[in-house]
Amino acid sequence: PLNETFDAPFAVGCKNVAYEANTYPRMNATFMVLTRNSDLDGVLSSMKSIEKRFNQHFNYPYVFLNDESFTDEFKEAVQKVTQSKVQFGILGQELWDFPSTVDQDFIDEAIAEQVGIVYANMPSYHKMCRFFSKQFYKHPLIQQYEWYWRLEPDVSFSCDISYDPFYYMQKYNKVYGFVIAIKELAETVPNLFRYTIAHKKAVNLETTDFWRFFLNDDYDKHIQTLKEKQKYDQVFVLPEPPLEQIDGEIYNLCHFWSNFEIARLDFYRSKEYNDYMNALEEAGGFWTERWGDAPVHSLAVGLLLNRSQVHYFRDLGYQHSTIQHCAQDLGCNCDCPLTVPEIEPRLGSCINRWAEVMGGYLDE
Ligand code: GDP
Ligand code: MN
Repeated sequence: PLNETFDAPFAVGCKNVAYEANTYPRMNATFMVLTRNSDLDGVLSSMKSIEKRFNQHFNYPYVFLNDESFTDEFKEAVQKVTQSKVQFGILGQELWDFPSTVDQDFIDEAIAEQVGIVYANMPSYHKMCRFFSKQFYKHPLIQQYEWYWRLEPDVSFSCDISYDPFYYMQKYNKVYGFVIAIKELAETVPNLFRYTIAHKKAVNLETTDFWRFFLNDDYDKHIQTLKEKQKYDQVFVLPEPPLEQIDGEIYNLCHFWSNFEIARLDFYRSKEYNDYMNALEEAGGFWTERWGDAPVHSLAVGLLLNRSQVHYFRDLGYQHSTIQHCAQDLGCNCDCPLTVPEIEPRLGSCINRWAEVMGGYLDE
């Protein structure tokens, strides 16, 4: 197991969920789901999973967000699968659309040019990533909360979550929590790191003790070790990272997969976070490149948080598309899909780097 100096799992095995739910207060927290009406089946599937594994005991509310009006069918269907309060929000142009100060034809052309990169040809995908990077926390329905848990269509939770992650994050002074940490596709973020470093210098940010999680000093060694152990797997062949040094630092492409996130909203509301977002907006990479909200959130975490404020939910089982983390011996009543490979030991995983930075190690 991971021998964490800075970040132990909140649970090993099952806690007494009735005790947990009755003893500790509810946090000011919500599930947040950005979705299209057409994602309804996937949304219901994710909700059924999280209700069964967790929320039937804790009853956290849901906020659904959409750039179009939700249909009655959508609203009725999601209300049927939870006892919790459900709210629906529409995103105005000011939150969803590209900034009106930038020439829209230029944006369209820039996006049209991005062929051969996953999703990069879709203006809506760019808008979604920009929304999650720098807008979601400004929506009135999200503004009322202190914490959010991001939920996506077609994800599943494969272990019981027998305690309140929000409560434990608060208790242990955590700000940002993740389940999966992997390498980003290099071609989606050619200049994100450059602009990030430029901003870090411009505002004189002191380097946190977590920053080196994103640097590749041990990357080659890591790949070499994995290859030697013959764990190289065709499923997760990722492009070589850009080896370009920027100010002596190389981005190793590690990022937290943001389709699962539990985090404090005041992190995003801070002046420091918003200054960084303004710099990224000015750089134009939400349209000239395909910057994902995942690497953006992650690098912000690296710039602004200490390692003690970041939490790996290693005891959760979580699946999205072809990747899962299965908590195996750590989790509670896990029932992980057998056909989906575990990400932790794979080439594209950043958990070894995490362990190095957090002062722990991974047993095989
Ligand atoms: P992936 O996980 O990177 O493959 O991206 P997804 O297609 O799952 O999109 C991420 C999230 O944003 C999901 O919750 C989608 O339902 C949502 N989403 C993506 N594009 C749009 C859009 O154009 N409108 C709305 N309302 N939601 C979107
Ligand atoms: Mn998704």
